[in-house]
Amino acid sequence: MLRQQLTRWFRAHGRDLPWRRTRDPYAIMVSEFMLQQTQVVTVLDFYARWLLRFPDFQTLAAASEANVLHVWQGLGYYSRARNLHRAAQHVMERHGGTLPDDLAAIAALPGVGRYTAGAIASFAFDRATPIIDANIARVLARLLDLREPIDTARGSAILWETAAALLPIRGGRLHNSALMELGALVCTPRTPMCPQCPVRAHCRAENPAALPLKKPRRKTIALAEDCAWVMRDRRLLLAQQTGPRWRGLWKLPALMAPARAAKLLLALDYPFTHHRVTLSVFVAAASKKIAPHQRWVAVGAIETIALAAPHKRAILRILATARVAPI
Ligand code: SF4
Repeated sequence: MLRQQLTRWFRAHGRDLPWRRTRDPYAIMVSEFMLQQTQVVTVLDFYARWLLRFPDFQTLAAASEANVLHVWQGLGYYSRARNLHRAAQHVMERHGGTLPDDLAAIAALPGVGRYTAGAIASFAFDRATPIIDANIARVLARLLDLREPIDTARGSAILWETAAALLPIRGGRLHNSALMELGALVCTPRTPMCPQCPVRAHCRAENPAALPLKKPRRKTIALAEDCAWVMRDRRLLLAQQTGPRWRGLWKLPALMAPARAAKLLLALDYPFTHHRVTLSVFVAAASKKIAPHQRWVAVGAIETIALAAPHKRAILRILATARVAPI
């Protein structure tokens, strides 16, 4: 009964999203990677552009990492782009360019966790596979009036078991899409629209806005990131990152001199996991020799470089305010 009410509602009210119009496993995989930490409205533009530039596994697998990161620019969380690139190479090398209709093979792809594997299997191959994303977790926690935090092993296990129990024998695509859409449009985080909910007769939530429960958050820790603004002949010195964070992306080089001795150009805050980072940019002099991971980039070409997002923001703001004498 719940399933039928849910799918009937979805047929009448579900949004017409481009990844719902296709059954192409590649296109669906791209959308799932993009949607992992980004909202639908933001993904729409990037998704269309990405498919024009990289229309299939073959094209993406053959592209350079720099090119892939550049096209991903603006979506953030670049590890997703790297994993998508590696996943395309994996499909080319191990499956001859065709993603198999096999949950274990999909789950073996780089960057594909339990949710993404289930989503690709259900949206591309119509498999009746349970999936739990933030929307579905919220809906299920409220339907059950779940008093267990959903980010504990027990809470998560209850959600996965419930999602599996609710699945129809056939038609995983429609069912999972409908459950997700209910969370996105009706059973929303702060103000669930219970009077309009197609499954309210099955819902046990006494205070839905208070659900789902989560473990208490870790305290935010303040971090300082001091960087150098080094200009020469209208070219800016940038450094490429090799560590796990922002690997392959470009940023302003670290400030070597003590910050108190340098002129501050700009400071901005950005979040990073449970940290609040203050990025401060100071004017610094060019040294005769630059490090192997550094390069001079013409001011006019800055936007063509795959930059770490907070650094891009800082650079563009400084250039826009033209407060920099050495430019
Ligand atoms: S009745 Fe309200 S809380 Fe329950 S599933 Fe529907 S929108 Fe969510």
